[in-house]
Amino acid sequence: MANNGTAPRTIDLRSDTLTKPTDAMRRAMAEAEVGDDVYGEDPTVNRLEETAARLMGKEAGLYVTSGTMGNLVSALSWCNRGDELVCGVDAHLLVNEMGAIATFGGVQMRALPNDHRGLMDPDDVELIVPPGGYFPRMALLTIENTNNRGNGAAYTVEQMRPLADVARANGMNVHMDGARIFNASVALGVPPSELASVADSVTFCLSKGLSAPVGSVVTGSSEFVARARRMRKMVGGGLRQAGVLAAAGLVALDTMVDRLADDHANAKRLAEGLARIPGFQVDPDTIETNIVYAELDDGDGPGTSARLKERGVLGNGRFNWVRFVPHYGITAEDIDEALDAIESTVKAGV
Ligand SMILES: *Cc1c(COP(=O)(O)O)cnc(C)c1O
Repeated sequence: MANNGTAPRTIDLRSDTLTKPTDAMRRAMAEAEVGDDVYGEDPTVNRLEETAARLMGKEAGLYVTSGTMGNLVSALSWCNRGDELVCGVDAHLLVNEMGAIATFGGVQMRALPNDHRGLMDPDDVELIVPPGGYFPRMALLTIENTNNRGNGAAYTVEQMRPLADVARANGMNVHMDGARIFNASVALGVPPSELASVADSVTFCLSKGLSAPVGSVVTGSSEFVARARRMRKMVGGGLRQAGVLAAAGLVALDTMVDRLADDHANAKRLAEGLARIPGFQVDPDTIETNIVYAELDDGDGPGTSARLKERGVLGNGRFNWVRFVPHYGITAEDIDEALDAIESTVKAGV
């Protein structure tokens, strides 16, 4: 991020969704071969869906506009009205997706406690299995990997397997909200297909750390994806010459995965620095990927982020925390500069 020496700089750490398409993406978008994707005739979308399916070790893929749409069409495909979806109490699809699944699917969202990494306890799932006739059918269990509110925790197969097992033993399908599954894959050093293998369906985002401008992909069996395709059309997500967007997604998968390690290193660097600044509570050992939630001694997330903004550092301040998410375009020097600005904000005692 160039600094011309005079203009006040802003180091924007609100989200990895702020990443802009790379030059290679823009070129690929301009040159993309396209067709009508509702007819299944957009070669670039088809290539993206096949690539995504292969990376996740699934039969098929479906390009959708957003992670929210991916989770929605997945839930609509697995659940009937009146069914229950089980997730952690901090799950993004429960808390941050406008109640879409309940609204459009008539699906009851059953939130279970989760630990500080966002992980549910399989025993808690077992405990709510309906003993008789007048309970909703438990249709779907969801696992979020990495876990956003859990400081970007990356779950191993071993950590997820017991949850998937108890779900399947009780007739449920398993959906992975893998918005940042590539962050998990890079952090754990395992292919995404290995992590995806515990789930029947997996959604991941191209528009976060991978820096594509738009889009997510839902993957699963051919039969599941055929259902999800109908649901996507139903919610208005049938796009036409979507290859101009999908082209950027292909470049993202090709060129932007390995560099996520830089974001993880920067998040760790930021957490280590924050841990030394009075008023911010962060345990750097808990930072596994690119998300850092700092809990505030004064409990004032919005106020703190407003004060940091005056010194050129943007974070998402809500409730009693501020969240920082290093991403493409943010360097280690930017992190050091952000830490200096945060420290001087605190010293100023404002
Ligand atoms: C961002 C995010 C989503 C939703 O993605 P959008 O593309 O913003 O709709 C879903 N799940 C998790 C965990 C996320 O972080």
